[in-house]
Amino acid sequence: MREVWLSSRKFWKKTCNLQDICEGGKPVIEKEGKKIFNGIAIGRIKFYLKEENEVVRVKVENVDAEVARYEAAKSKAIEQLNGLYEKALEEVGEANAEIFNVHAMMLEDEDYNESVENIIRTQEVNAEYAAATTGDNFAEMFANMDNEYFKARAADVKDITERVITILHGKGSGTDIGDDPVIVVAEDLAPSETVQMDKSKLLAFVTRLGSANSHTAILARTMGIPALVGVDIDKSWDGKIAVVDGYEGKFIVDPDMDLLASYFKKKEADDEQKKLLQTLKGKENVTKSGQKINLYANIGNPGDLASVLENDAGGIGLFRSEFLYLESDTYPTEEQQFSAYKKVVETMGGKKVIIRTLDIGADKQVGYFELDKEDNPALGYRAIRICLTRPEIFRTQLRALFRASAFGNLSIMYPMITSVEEVEKIKAISRSVKEELASEGVKIGKVEEGIMIETPAAAVISDQLAKHVDFFSIGTNDLTQYTLAIDRQNAKLDPFYNAHHEAVLRLIKMVTDNAHKEGIWAGICGELGADTTLTEEFLRMGLDELSVSPGCILSVRKKIRDAE
Ligand code: PEP
Ligand code: MG
Repeated sequence: MREVWLSSRKFWKKTCNLQDICEGGKPVIEKEGKKIFNGIAIGRIKFYLKEENEVVRVKVENVDAEVARYEAAKSKAIEQLNGLYEKALEEVGEANAEIFNVHAMMLEDEDYNESVENIIRTQEVNAEYAAATTGDNFAEMFANMDNEYFKARAADVKDITERVITILHGKGSGTDIGDDPVIVVAEDLAPSETVQMDKSKLLAFVTRLGSANSHTAILARTMGIPALVGVDIDKSWDGKIAVVDGYEGKFIVDPDMDLLASYFKKKEADDEQKKLLQTLKGKENVTKSGQKINLYANIGNPGDLASVLENDAGGIGLFRSEFLYLESDTYPTEEQQFSAYKKVVETMGGKKVIIRTLDIGADKQVGYFELDKEDNPALGYRAIRICLTRPEIFRTQLRALFRASAFGNLSIMYPMITSVEEVEKIKAISRSVKEELASEGVKIGKVEEGIMIETPAAAVISDQLAKHVDFFSIGTNDLTQYTLAIDRQNAKLDPFYNAHHEAVLRLIKMVTDNAHKEGIWAGICGELGADTTLTEEFLRMGLDELSVSPGCILSVRKKIRDAE
């Protein structure tokens, strides 16, 4: 214990004062949260608070000078947004970065700028007040519109106005987390906020809001840092020492000496394990008896590619393309999609990249689709059901996908299939898109087309479906939800959500056997694929592929290589 404590003292020299650590007497605060990514982080809490800009109305003498002050702040805001666009482009991909372009364009808007200038000149007031009033007026105007898309613009107007006022106040961006590594604790984090934070200083994320699919969660998984969501947080913890236990879903504030020492020990073991896993890079996914299996990565956008390469994935087994739609303010164009898909296949340099077509609806709502509110959204209008009834959206995506296929090894996968008829309809549309591109002289690569098996119906008729497609990828998240009749979004039902249920496992085996009978391959791309307690069972079932979060690749590889 003493050795661990001594090494922890060395580690702490820069990060905290030892007297900060609870010596006993004071209660240790322990909170539970939803695990997003495993690992242990120990450090000081940085409570991230959105800065509120207080604006006061001040009379000014020189209105020309005040207009010039506004113009200078506006230019600086545009410069910041351009910088953010470039940074986001590299880190989280074009579709996510686009929001910063939109904000920069909004700041160039004539009506907005005229309104600010008019208020300064006619009321002889300061630029902050003129900008705040304009922002409020425009936001209200948008909020009162009927169209969902325009309604959502109210938040953007507020965002750009806050940026200008912050600059006029002479403040920084607000997302500076300081020079030392910290655990960032927040109510919630927007993509514009996470993108601005210095990643080398982030030890972990803990938020009250946000789900497993939130931006925070995706970023944490991709960066491979421990993260928890759904934690009951308190502002008064700012600056305190804390532990994030991403394995157990625990957030411990003010740990006492013994607890801290035991966590240092855990962290050391964890770091050691991660180092050991690094030695598996470049090694095959093969059991001791020679059985091989493909190990691919799941990604949400091109920004995740760095982590895919870093963890030595053999390919991409699931690119959730809906993130391109979720993080955009309007339908992503064919060109925008093409450039995202092309970037992924080119970066993977000939390795297989399976891109899933749009899977929105249910928990993934996109304002501009204007989907009706449903009583049972998980059983509702989602995924392929939208694509088959709104073929213009589907065709745009397929055109972008087939065009990108000329630049690498691209496969297409269709979600939420329940019948052979659906597959026949999809294939007819896909054929016609290919013919259209061919008539335009566009080059198309060799594309495998497969389906997700994520409904019990598809699993049960997988013998028939196998005759029509090139591969099956089993979506165990939804397959479990629909087989056990348990809403995967409902945290209350977590204790009942048992992905190890015999019924789910039998379906996986049946689907794999039916795929093999028709000479096609079968894999798993749901979360269960990364569950190392089942790896040996999946090998016995004869699955051909497992697709998991990039950060899980090496631990699954280890499990495979340790298996007989
Ligand atoms: C699944 O359902 O298992 C799956 C991989 O798809 P998603 O989690 O995106 O619904
Ligand atoms: Mg699914």
